[in-house]
Amino acid sequence: RLPEGRPRDARSNLVVLAGPTAVGKGTVAARIKDDYPEILLSVSATTRAPRPGEVEGEHYYFVDDAEFDRMIAADELLEHATVHNRFRYGTPRRPIEQALADGRTVLLEIDLQGARQVRAAEPSATLVFLLPPSWDELVQRLVGRGTESDEERARRLRTAKVELAAQNEFDFRVVNDDVASAAREVVASARP
Ligand code: 5GP
Repeated sequence: RLPEGRPRDARSNLVVLAGPTAVGKGTVAARIKDDYPEILLSVSATTRAPRPGEVEGEHYYFVDDAEFDRMIAADELLEHATVHNRFRYGTPRRPIEQALADGRTVLLEIDLQGARQVRAAEPSATLVFLLPPSWDELVQRLVGRGTESDEERARRLRTAKVELAAQNEFDFRVVNDDVASAAREVVASARP
């Protein structure tokens, strides 16, 4: 099932989970964290403010622009991107290197730009694209979440359309119709 010529080695334990907005990446990633505690779920740095219930160091490292710039300059981020034309997000390198050295699988839940950067930096990484059961379902999920303004929602839907077109760049595609089985399939992609 892997594209011809895709190298598989110790760095293939680096698994990137990407997919369009509101497809449920965060839910699937959280499920993997619960069901597979041996897998490290990478904690990103971001310049956006915490949402209610989000915990520093658990969901994100919440930093300001100056600190984000410092992390980039110090080469502390494996990848970084501005998402939805607004806030910056990046993956700290060090915890990943440590976990891979320990033989653990590492999961990155990041956007498409980040996934492409990881592919370029780590050719053996495993890229998994999470798909909604249908486009209508994706719209429903975005509306149902109710956390974004109309303008923000429209922006995210435009991004989602573009992102869906990128699915062929990925090693595996997983349909998120059931969270537990999607989580299982993502983990199985790392260990074919
Ligand atoms: P949210 O603000 O809803 O938590 O996340 C918005 C988007 O940022 C999601 O698509 C999420 O996958 C992406 N994201 C989160 N962390 C990172 C990261 O470290 N790098 C990149 N490139 N995207 C990220």
